[in-house]
Amino acid sequence: MSETSSKSGTTRPLNFLEQIISQDLEQGKVDKVITRFPPEPNGYLHIGHAKSICLNFGLAEKFGGACNLRFDDTNPSKEELEYVEAIKRDVQWLGYSWADEVRYASSYFDTFYQWALHLINEGKAYVCHLSADEAREYRGWASKPGKESPYRNRTVAENLAEFEKMRAGEYEEGACSLRARIDMASPNMNLRDPMLYRIRKQRHHQTGDKWCIYPTYDFAHGQEDAIEGVTHSICTLEFADHRPLYDWFIANLPVPHKPTQYEFARLELNYTVTSKRKLKLLVDEGHVDGWDDPRMPTISGMRRRGYTPASLRQFCELIGVTKSGSTIDVGQLEYCVRDDLNNNAPRAMCVLSPLKVTLTNLPAGEVQTMTQPVHPNRPELGERQLPLSREIFIDSSDYSEDTSLSRKKFKRLVLGDYVRLRGAYVIRADESVKDAAGNIVELKASLVEGTVGENPQDGIKPRGVIHWVDASNCVDCEVRLYDRLFSDAAPDAGDKDFLQALNPESLTIIEGCKAETSLVNAVPEQSYQFEREGYFCLDGKYSSAARPVFNQTIGLKDNWASKV
Ligand code: ATP
Ligand code: MG
Repeated sequence: MSETSSKSGTTRPLNFLEQIISQDLEQGKVDKVITRFPPEPNGYLHIGHAKSICLNFGLAEKFGGACNLRFDDTNPSKEELEYVEAIKRDVQWLGYSWADEVRYASSYFDTFYQWALHLINEGKAYVCHLSADEAREYRGWASKPGKESPYRNRTVAENLAEFEKMRAGEYEEGACSLRARIDMASPNMNLRDPMLYRIRKQRHHQTGDKWCIYPTYDFAHGQEDAIEGVTHSICTLEFADHRPLYDWFIANLPVPHKPTQYEFARLELNYTVTSKRKLKLLVDEGHVDGWDDPRMPTISGMRRRGYTPASLRQFCELIGVTKSGSTIDVGQLEYCVRDDLNNNAPRAMCVLSPLKVTLTNLPAGEVQTMTQPVHPNRPELGERQLPLSREIFIDSSDYSEDTSLSRKKFKRLVLGDYVRLRGAYVIRADESVKDAAGNIVELKASLVEGTVGENPQDGIKPRGVIHWVDASNCVDCEVRLYDRLFSDAAPDAGDKDFLQALNPESLTIIEGCKAETSLVNAVPEQSYQFEREGYFCLDGKYSSAARPVFNQTIGLKDNWASKV
């Protein structure tokens, strides 16, 4: 196998991980591929995690293997059950199923403990009482070899006794740690007697008060893979330097399987922050309305905003998997969302800034019914009925009294001129009605008979097509428009304070909008194309039956390029 085909029917060369896996299968190095997605439950998942999910679950799917969902819950201080539940929801929503039960690193704590004893007994681990500052100093730096800890050469018996005291809670946090005895002179800092266990007198969301010592990421991760029989342990590039340590543990412990770690470039998106810690700060400080704020790059935020699982998967496929990092333009993500919604979203009309139009030649009380397809290219989705009566709303920006406006530039309604109402009649603007201050508060217009689905006679040329809703048969709603959360393309680059880069205009709330009645049936996560306005979906949090709220998922076109 040297290339692969996607659901859209296109083929592309295998990425480097797919090449490795197909070789391993061909050569019989593995007979079933097992991957895993290993989030730490210390926040909600973001778009970067979506890439890792699509990669790990996608590889398992492609090669007939399995992917585990495993919570890397070795640090009780920052972890919560709420995050565990949210992460499960997000993975499922993206369309993936994990093999068997959800796994928890914490359910292997007994084994890790036994393996720590194993290393002590082999003379490969010791309890060290250096303070954090001292330990840092002893470690040296890349170009300066470290110094050996004075506790490094303790006897096995002494180490066993000290480790037991750690486990029994006889030491305070930070008083000591268990370290591997590897090589203080190694050019790889990760091999300079890394920490295996630290004291944390904290309750754990899975194991309760059973432990007051917790394994470090390094001592846990590869061993979790080994216990689960993971064949290809795929992580992001910053762990490349940890691989020798990963391999050291696998080589020095009585593990049941021997996994291999591979690294790929993490997803970096411009105008976006992808760090749970920073996203948590936005939530905790109230800069956004929770983890699922539609402006957040979290899976739950994008979901609430109307992004579809298919569009996120398509995006991950499009950007591919590489070994070198680069920043992806967030416009590519938006493109995938827009493309999916263009093909699938039902159409509807919603007037964001209503101007009342009285159709003077339509008798009061008469209601006509116009029909429009739910989707112009998808007849199987059916039709929608649009009532039309004497009073309708159009958008105030679609009407002007300025008769000098060129037909090319202003394809909307001008006083004395004609425009087509989408799916209905051609109308002519006859007279503006103004308030005392001179503002236009109403327009009197007349419809041209015989123009539903027909071109007008008598040389009448409508300037364009505008959207509308019937004034007596419509839904009052609120619309929320979103712009990028950050106005800086690299909000957290270098030592920048990403909070300074927050875009003060990322949310615009528009009340008093008027939508067509088909939107009574709107449900969260189902986006509609509001004709000429963009894609919108019902907000699950703030909508009520009396007043639905619609989130803008994405605009119809990429407007951003022209803005900056
Ligand atoms: P964060 O910095 O946001 O907390 P993390 O890497 O610490 O991210 P984990 O919960 O440890 O978060 O991540 C679970 C998996 O998701 C890991 O395998 C990690 O490599 C992967 N991952 C996290 N961020 C990205 C990203 N931006 N691109 C690709 N994969 C990512
Ligand atoms: Mg992490």
